[in-house]
Amino acid sequence: MDFKGQVAMITGGARGIGRSIAGHFAKHGANLAIADVSEDAARETAGELASAGAKTMAVKLDVSKSDQVVKAFEDVVKEFGRLDILINNAGITKDGLVLRMKEEDWDAVININLKGVFLCSKEAVKVMVKQKYGRIVNIASVVAFMGNPGQVNYSASKAGIVGLTKTVAREYASRGLTVNAVAPGFISTAMTDALAENVRQEMLKSIPVGKFGTVDDVANAVSFLASADAGYITGQVIHVNGGMYM
Ligand code: NAP
Repeated sequence: MDFKGQVAMITGGARGIGRSIAGHFAKHGANLAIADVSEDAARETAGELASAGAKTMAVKLDVSKSDQVVKAFEDVVKEFGRLDILINNAGITKDGLVLRMKEEDWDAVININLKGVFLCSKEAVKVMVKQKYGRIVNIASVVAFMGNPGQVNYSASKAGIVGLTKTVAREYASRGLTVNAVAPGFISTAMTDALAENVRQEMLKSIPVGKFGTVDDVANAVSFLASADAGYITGQVIHVNGGMYM
C-alpha cells in the first residue's frame, strides 16, 4: 500500500482505533490530520507521528458541531492543499436499557456517532469531488447488525452509518469517490476496557476465533479500503469481528 503524497484526516484520531489507523497511514507515507475533541491528545498523537517522519497537523474538532467541522476541513485543505481520505472514526457510548435511557444520552450518541459522520462526509465530498478522487471509510460496529442490550442509542447510530455509507457511495460512485464501512467486533481499547470483567468474559464466549480483536486488526481493513487498490469496492461493509457475526 502506498499513500505517498496523499492527505488523510482521521476523526477521533488521537487514541484507540483512530490512533492505530493514523499510524498505518503514516507508515505508508500519508500526510495526516489528527482531528479530535481533545486538542491536547490530538497534538500529542500528531507530534508522535511527526517525530516518526510523517507530516502531520492536529485539529481540535467536535464532529457534532457543524461550525467546527466546516472550519476543520478548511484548515486541513489550507495546510495540505487537498484531502484524499476521510476516516469517520470518532464515536462514544452512553449505555442504558431502553426504558431507562435518558433522552440526552440518546441525543449525545446520535449527534456524535451519526450526525458527525454526515457533517464530516459533506465537507469531505466537496473537496473530493473537485479532485475526482476520494476515499471515505466509516467506522460502524457489529452491534449495528446484531443489536446489543443496553446500546439502543449506539446500535441505532451505527446502523444509521451503514445506510449513510451506501447512500453517499451511490451518490458519488461516478465521481471517483468510494465510501465504505468497517464494522469492528470487540476490540481492546479504552472503550471496551471500561466494561466489567464478567461482561468481557461473556463476550469472549461468542467470538469463534477465541480472542478479542486489536486496533491493528481494524486498521488493516481500513487501510485497504482507503487505498487506491480498493477502487472497485464501494458501499460495502467489511466485518472485523473474529467470526462473532457472520
Ligand atoms: P476510544 O478509544 O474511546 O477513542 C475514540 C476517540 O474519539 C477518542 O480520542 C475521543 O476523544 C474521540 N472523540 C470522542 N468524541 C468526539 C467528538 N465529538 N469529536 C471528535 N472526536 C471525539 O474509542 P475506540 O474504541 O478507539 O473507538 C473508535 C471507533 O470504533 C468508534 O466509532 C467506536 O464506536 C468504534 N468501535 C469500537 C469498538 C471497540 O470494541 N473498541 C467496536 C466497534 C466499533 P476523548 O478520548 O477525548 O473523548
